[in-house]
Amino acid sequence: MPVLPLTSREPNRVSPMHGSDLQATLYKVQEIAKDVVAPNAVAIDAQARWPEPGIRALQNAGFGGLVVPTAYGGNGHGLLALAKVCELLGQECASTAICYGMHCVGASVIAANATPDQQERFLTPICAGRHITTLSLSEAGTGAHFYLPQTALEAISAEEYRLTGSKTFVTNGGHADSYVVSAVAASPEAPIGQFSCVVLPADCEGMKWGADWDGLGMRGNSSRTLELHGARIPSNNLLGKEGDQIWYIFNVVTPYFLIAMAGTFLGVATTALEEARRHLVRRYHTHTGSSLAQSSVLQHRLGSLWAVLERTRRLTYHAAASFDAGEPDALTAVMAAKVEVADCAVNLVNEAMTLSGGIGYRNGSRMHRLLRDARAAHLMSPTTDILRVWIGRALLGQPLLSD
Ligand SMILES: Cc1cc2nc3c(=O)[nH]c(=O)nc-3n(C[C@H](O)[C@H](O)[C@H](O)COP(=O)(O)OP(=O)(O)OC[C@H]3O[C@@H](n4cnc5c(N)ncnc54)[C@H](O)[C@@H]3O)c2cc1C
Repeated sequence: MPVLPLTSREPNRVSPMHGSDLQATLYKVQEIAKDVVAPNAVAIDAQARWPEPGIRALQNAGFGGLVVPTAYGGNGHGLLALAKVCELLGQECASTAICYGMHCVGASVIAANATPDQQERFLTPICAGRHITTLSLSEAGTGAHFYLPQTALEAISAEEYRLTGSKTFVTNGGHADSYVVSAVAASPEAPIGQFSCVVLPADCEGMKWGADWDGLGMRGNSSRTLELHGARIPSNNLLGKEGDQIWYIFNVVTPYFLIAMAGTFLGVATTALEEARRHLVRRYHTHTGSSLAQSSVLQHRLGSLWAVLERTRRLTYHAAASFDAGEPDALTAVMAAKVEVADCAVNLVNEAMTLSGGIGYRNGSRMHRLLRDARAAHLMSPTTDILRVWIGRALLGQPLLSD
């Protein structure tokens, strides 16, 4: 009997919205994932090393501006492309996928309302593959409530702002060329959502990085703490208008952030399933003379896992495509996609480890890394618990940010 492949090694199916452009992008990304990302994945994890080779290869291949509009020199892709690109990268190395994904999220926030000056200073080098950006929202004080910054943004003249506060878990921390930082202008008592985002250049005075990132998983992320001691930035680094960032949160930050994570962890789950499948095919018992693939119990378990992964993948693609198409309920579906991917990835890797027996439980096994990486899916903001509340509120017609 031929063995049906669980995962196509060909790029994911192409959206009719993007046609051959997306197909060509996915072929190239898959090549980079296999030739550059995969060979570096073990060292990135073992040494908690920022995934420079994969990031540079993606930039050199022309994908610095994946989700930046073509009018600004980008590739003009949307959420569907981001999901599939992060999935392909995440199959080989979750750290590379999320570091690249966070660059894309930062770039999409800058591009959403960029002034001509911001296009030239940030988007042109991003699209030319000369500039990495990233999102720096989370703070220790407000934790998972990433939309409640307490970092102060103070106008010190018509030309300059001063930033004072502290950010946590800044992925790409210390390696990016700029940071999209959230802060509260004027009054810290401003209503929820009335915060601002600015672009902080990496060479700005008054920035102090915390210790190197030493996570259980996602070990290449360089998700570090950043202290801002009166860091001064030009006032034309403000994105949009002061205090209007609630618009960004639900139109740009949340959808792009959620889909970058959903794609990454779909990739992790896909690889876990493939590893388990290979083990069942290869593992022979001497007392039966047959492989584990002949066991109907294990066939049943593998089939069930495949079905969960496939329905989660389809939900993610569908949610991403519906956001790209501007459908009204798209954001709720995007939120649900990240929740379902987190559940799927954590449970599937756990089950796949059981199917792989003791060999998967070895320290340093691929399954070991996948399990550690997958565990970040629930706790990366917007977290699973907060998203479930938001989905419920959306269905009940209530404001999402009511606490
Ligand atoms: C690997 C990694 C990379 C990251 N990268 C970035 C990044 O690039 N940029 C960035 O800005 N942030 C980033 N973060 C931060 C992340 O997105 C979360 O904001 C952060 O981990 C959560 O904050 P906390 O640890 O203080 O959780 P806590 O606030 O202590 O929350 C603990 C748990 O309680 C739950 N919880 C809290 N409040 C509620 C509530 N009201 N209702 C229901 N449940 C609730 C949370 O969901 C969570 O599961 C990263 C985090 C990690 C681990």
